[in-house]
Amino acid sequence: MNEASPFTQSRRAQQIWAELPVEQRAERFIPALRMLDERTDEFAAIIHQENGKPLFEAVAHEVGASICYLKWLIERAPEILAEEEVSLSVFPHRKATIQRVPWGAVLVIGPWNVPLYIPVGQVITALIAGNAVVLKPSEVTPKSARILEELLSHCCLPDGLFQIVEGDGRVGAKLIKNKPDKVMFTGSVATGRKVMAACAKHPIPVTLELGGVDAMIVCEDANLEYAASAAAWGATFNGGQVCASVERLIIAESVRERFLSLLIDKLERISPERDLGPITFSGQKEVYNSHIADARERALEIATGGHFIDERRFAPTLVTGNGVTNAAIWKEETFGPIVAASGFETDDQAVELHNGISSGLTASIFSSNPDRAKRIASRLKAGLVAINEIGATLYSQPELPWGGVGTSGFGRSHGREGLVDCTWPRVIEQARVSNIEPKRPWWYPYGAKQTEMMKHFGRFQAADGRIDQLAEAAKLGRAATQMLTRTPRL
Ligand code: NDP
Repeated sequence: MNEASPFTQSRRAQQIWAELPVEQRAERFIPALRMLDERTDEFAAIIHQENGKPLFEAVAHEVGASICYLKWLIERAPEILAEEEVSLSVFPHRKATIQRVPWGAVLVIGPWNVPLYIPVGQVITALIAGNAVVLKPSEVTPKSARILEELLSHCCLPDGLFQIVEGDGRVGAKLIKNKPDKVMFTGSVATGRKVMAACAKHPIPVTLELGGVDAMIVCEDANLEYAASAAAWGATFNGGQVCASVERLIIAESVRERFLSLLIDKLERISPERDLGPITFSGQKEVYNSHIADARERALEIATGGHFIDERRFAPTLVTGNGVTNAAIWKEETFGPIVAASGFETDDQAVELHNGISSGLTASIFSSNPDRAKRIASRLKAGLVAINEIGATLYSQPELPWGGVGTSGFGRSHGREGLVDCTWPRVIEQARVSNIEPKRPWWYPYGAKQTEMMKHFGRFQAADGRIDQLAEAAKLGRAATQMLTRTPRL
């Protein structure tokens, strides 16, 4: 594959592209934004057909979310990526600028569950930042990825700046061997580990957007009816095949029974034909079966669901009971319309239960007390915590950085951080006024006077208050003069 590496073409195109000011690069994507709007129905139909998600979700979560993100990106990227001037505290007579330099040729590897919006968020961000991109979409959803190709073919990009390479996981692995300058991977924890190991060999910097076993905390002061509706949706939209879907419920004991009965009613009223996304990738069935079998072996209560409705749909399922927090369903991502519930007595316990597993993408807290909710939120190990909202919903807020901690990965897409992640910082430091300056006191030769002067420098830096600072500055000046006049610099 080496001779035919797509990155050879990428690098050629990238050199031309990176010469353009970021404002001009951003403007090139306006036709893509217009086209997403004008052809929403057509694009949503392709995704609906290929991935299976309900048409509403294809319109809202894929095309609509892409429109919102792209609009924000085009408007804000120039300011976020602009050269930044930095004042220097140790050398105030000098200054520095930080330039955001594109990595070069970026490889984006995507999953099948959000086949348009995830690549839009990573590919176009990387392009605007000045990179070339090769996208390896999931073999399960190639047609949805080709929507992006169609959009970008109207944006006057240099030939080869954006390429799609289709194929399965082996193709993704081979592409990494071709040494892209950066890899942005979205997928499972298991594949993320392999991708990181492959990148480590070169090494190639990598962003990992991995799975989540996200939790929703329901406090006793929450609006239970509202929280139960949120949980029913948050656990099952896109058939639960969402990295940030609600997989765990942590409910105040005093309202647990009432909340669960509201939730069961709502889960049972979800229409499989109208609302529930089917299983996109049949391999998921094995995970559902094994998590439910594990729950049964542990004598947990399957309060509703627990079975396939038909070939492609699993019934919305709630698992609860003593010991649920030891079950696979609590600790591992199921990626289906299945949620496990446990209880808590104190806020400390809720936090402990939440942080008790290593995954941390998003979390939600439902409470009528915003201060209490924020206190709990500030203790959770999760990349994003939503209060009285489902964390996954915030994926459509372009300005919020998206990504996790622990086994949910690292690096961010979206927001300021996502753009900055598509670049490396180049610092350029120089004199504020003149280029002709005395030789530096820390150059050779070393000696006792030089050491003395450095101690004064430390004291000057550490001095507290204006008077102390002036006194230390005077001592430093004397020490420097003595040293410079008595020992000429090399
Ligand atoms: P996978 O990890 O199975 O695959 C992700 C991508 O990696 C696919 O394109 C796949 O190709 C490719 N791939 C597989 N093996 C390798 C390899 N050895 N080297 C390089 N690439 C490889 O994930 P899924 O597609 O099943 O997606 C679901 C997962 O993604 C869930 O765990 C979900 O939580 C996570 N996810 C995380 C998100 C986040 O933002 N944190 C967002 C969305 C999903 P192919 O499919 O063709 O085999």
